[in-house]
Amino acid sequence: MGRRFFVGGNFKMNGSISSVKEIVNNLNGAKLDPNTEVVVAPSAIHLLLVRESLKKEIAVAAQNIYYKKNGAFTGELSVEQLNDAGIAWTLLGHSERRVSMAEVAESNEFLAEKAKAALAGGVGVIFCCGESLEIRKENKTKEHVLSQLKSAASAIKDWSKVVIAYEPIWAIGTGEVASPEQAQEVHADIRAWLKSDVSPEAAENTRIIYGGSVSEKNCVELAKKPDIDGFLVGGASLKPAFVDIINAKS
Ligand code: PGA
Repeated sequence: MGRRFFVGGNFKMNGSISSVKEIVNNLNGAKLDPNTEVVVAPSAIHLLLVRESLKKEIAVAAQNIYYKKNGAFTGELSVEQLNDAGIAWTLLGHSERRVSMAEVAESNEFLAEKAKAALAGGVGVIFCCGESLEIRKENKTKEHVLSQLKSAASAIKDWSKVVIAYEPIWAIGTGEVASPEQAQEVHADIRAWLKSDVSPEAAENTRIIYGGSVSEKNCVELAKKPDIDGFLVGGASLKPAFVDIINAKS
């Protein structure tokens, strides 16, 4: 059994009740490749609306969680609350939260706590990593991405509920997609690291997905690469073309 292709839609801080309902209606009516696992991550305010109206074959993810149990943590979402609401996944460590929103600046240590809490509560983690253009130019991509993953790995016992999203910052929202070869190279480095530092099983079974300007135009070529097991899609997940990306392998 190979790794099941995995496509996530990250709506980020976008959408209104009516536009999100349109996305849900479009997905509900679309013919989706049954071999692909699909997860959408709307804004917190739309999580319940999406979970209650979207067909059950598609899972729903939060874009972020806090790692503590319910309590006095104003503005946060807990793993218990996700479970209660039927939200099976969370994104963690998106570069917008690590880097672009400098006031937020989530650290590797903080993200390891979050990953630990999510997995302990049975919530799957789409764990993001990726380098800036500066780091790529210095030829430090592999070192940077692995350092982000190593920190999280210390908190992860069960890799079966983890999907790794490789998202080069220079490709996010820029229209500049990594070439299939550039993405494959980093994915292969991640898989080799899983094999040497985690386990051969984790290397064999963990989905490593690519994110950064994925569109209906470039997804088919990217999906042909042996270590690209799916996508995390931002801008295009808000459009009807998201269906074509979900069906990239069919
Ligand atoms: P993009 O975003 O597809 O709009 O580049 C991807 C992401 O940030 O997950």
